[in-house]
Amino acid sequence: TILNRNDYLSTLNEPQRAAVLHGEGPLMIIAGAGSGKTRVLTFRIANLIENGVDPFRILSLTFTNKASGEMRQRIEGAVGTEARNIWMGTFHSVFAKILRIEARYLGYTSDFSIYDTDDSKSLLRSIIKEYNLDDKVYKANVVFNRISGAKNRLISAEDYANNAVIQADDEAAKMKEIGRLYKTYAARCFQANAMDFDDLLFNTNILFRDFPDVLYKYQHKFQHVMVDEFQDTNVSQYLITRKLSAVHRNIVVVGDDAQSIYAFRGANIENILNFEKDFPDVVTIKLEQNYRSTSNIVNAANSVIARNKSQLKKETFTVNEEGSLIDVIKAGSDNEEGRLVATAIFEEKMQKALRNENFAILYRTNAQSRSFEEALRKLGIKYRIIGGQSFYQRKEIKDLLAYLRFTVNQRDEEAFKRIINLPKRGIGDATVAKIAVTASENNIAIWDVVANIGNYASGRTISPIEQFGTLIKSFKILVSEGKDAYEISAHIAKASGILRELYEDKTVEGLSRYENVQELLNGIKEFVDNEETEDKTLSAFLQSVSLLTNADEPDDNNDNDRVTMMTIHSAKGLEFRNVFIVGLEEDLFPSQMMLESRQDLEEERRLFYVAITRAEKKLSFSYAESRYQWGRLKMCEPSRFLLEVDQRYLNVSKMISVAAERENAPSASPFSARNLIQRKPTEPKPSPAAASYVPSADFVPSDTSDLIEGNKVEHLKFGLGVVTKMDINGTDRKATVKFDLVGEKTLLLSFAKLRIL
Ligand code: ATP
Ligand code: MG
Repeated sequence: TILNRNDYLSTLNEPQRAAVLHGEGPLMIIAGAGSGKTRVLTFRIANLIENGVDPFRILSLTFTNKASGEMRQRIEGAVGTEARNIWMGTFHSVFAKILRIEARYLGYTSDFSIYDTDDSKSLLRSIIKEYNLDDKVYKANVVFNRISGAKNRLISAEDYANNAVIQADDEAAKMKEIGRLYKTYAARCFQANAMDFDDLLFNTNILFRDFPDVLYKYQHKFQHVMVDEFQDTNVSQYLITRKLSAVHRNIVVVGDDAQSIYAFRGANIENILNFEKDFPDVVTIKLEQNYRSTSNIVNAANSVIARNKSQLKKETFTVNEEGSLIDVIKAGSDNEEGRLVATAIFEEKMQKALRNENFAILYRTNAQSRSFEEALRKLGIKYRIIGGQSFYQRKEIKDLLAYLRFTVNQRDEEAFKRIINLPKRGIGDATVAKIAVTASENNIAIWDVVANIGNYASGRTISPIEQFGTLIKSFKILVSEGKDAYEISAHIAKASGILRELYEDKTVEGLSRYENVQELLNGIKEFVDNEETEDKTLSAFLQSVSLLTNADEPDDNNDNDRVTMMTIHSAKGLEFRNVFIVGLEEDLFPSQMMLESRQDLEEERRLFYVAITRAEKKLSFSYAESRYQWGRLKMCEPSRFLLEVDQRYLNVSKMISVAAERENAPSASPFSARNLIQRKPTEPKPSPAAASYVPSADFVPSDTSDLIEGNKVEHLKFGLGVVTKMDINGTDRKATVKFDLVGEKTLLLSFAKLRIL
């Protein structure tokens, strides 16, 4: 539907309209979830174009490619196909594009490869081995994270190693070594004509720092710069946007400090504060009305985030209907959690005539998806998982992509390692490593070693390597003949032997791998046939796939009516009619890894806030009392977050009836009587004594409706104690009990398994 200007301006409230119509100069909107920040950006861009701004001169940075795709579509609806010319995408994709254009300044060619995290870690593993370092002390993963952290703070390998000197002894030695690894890693990436994800920002910063002419060009080009989800930009990203907008000074940033969830990756909330210093004439607009969610959901979210000490002051209200309460679902095990959630989806869908796509299941970690997948499959409900083992992470897909990469860039060390022996050519790992080291020692491309293998090796391995060289040469010819990405890929899939090998594997897995490769080829065909694709070369295709984020799974065009499952991190900015936040257990959410400091806990709480605010009409929480983790059964306690939500927005009645049904069943889990326990963040974990308390043989929870202060009680798990305080708040009754074994606990009486003595 084509909207005209008056149409869309009339669908905005006063401050939103002011933001859309804001003229020249910096503008900042820091506002709560669902208040229309993204909508304002979208309409603002449309409005600029309608007022004659050239779309090529608008730069808009978003969080996922999917988000930018949706934004572009909306703008296209308003202003037509001109919208395709906007420079719009994630930081990584936009700056990869600029780096391709300007590659020669940094000594790269525009065909440079982009190393994904696996490639980076694999390269580090090789280097650690070449250095004979203990790979238990220098884990590829840890070294990778250190390097990544340094790059995001714009610290080069040299600076990193030099910095080591000012550190304490032990750490200094280690830092020095990591500095050395960092240096070699950077040199090897460069030699491979490859950049890793962090390099895309790091190198853009270097490009703009060292080549003022290039910076000047883009500063003048981009008349308008917009950044969505500004709270999650890191220093490196912030510097780029600041520099780019220094000439025209038309920069609009929108975000919500309460939704900052990437501090662990270097995102810096200080950016919001610095922005006001860097642009003292900034106009700030507040958006306070939430349009997304029912008032119960908005109020519940506010009650949670109010607990964070560090936050900017702002209000969020809504005039939307009150809506239903938040259901709390309690399950005995992770499998049961899957079943209860799937059943709830099934029932809600039937009762309200909803579609699968109205539902989302959000979890803290990808590993939690399994029980929900199984349960949904049993009920015949279609779903899609965003992230996790994504399509592009599958071995067969990476294999073919590595062939394509090496065809385009014959210095790509990681692609080479993947394909040199695929299908089997009888070339040993030692030979492969030797080729890589030879190239790096002589400062030449891998390809130069392969093409002249006679100079570097002798014996049996020469002939298969020569054959490999001939094969790649034949692929390169197709590129130089100007064939498009699909023609070349389809040929390579056959000629390399990849398709044949998978075809001959008649197992179920083999068949599905074969289909996946076909699927990839279909995708490339689509890319080439798409009228929006200007550059149909293999190199352009590779760039488009290498920057897909977890949230960018290919859409299955015919079949989009699916329940969405994803981590909360990937759900940022999205909205769904019905949302289930699952796995609300201590150590899972909040995550065990994030409990070391108040800042960490506050970041987990912001994540919980992000999750809650994705829901439009209906929100449900679930938790399990036990789950399998690392192959072992683990007992779980309900998350403290369940108690942080103002309890008047919770509906626990369902939970009790579900739990009661289950407890009466013969197969009842022995762990089903665990309780919702209030714990303060700083409180120590229950002592081991608590876990080992053996209740009296005749333990039966009693009716606690007439419980009063001073009553002696027995608790199924905490043992004997005395009620010190009663807190009656509406239907929710809480008792504070001083237990002999574990000290004071506050229990929600609707959950507590207590017996009055
Ligand atoms: P988040 O912080 O989660 O990214 P946001 O502030 O970007 O949220 P939007 O996604 O832009 O919020 O808007 C939330 C929802 O409210 C969308 O469905 C949007 O279309 C709707 N909305 C925003 N403003 C209005 C308005 N003035 N009238 C009607 N609907 C609106
Ligand atoms: Mg948004």
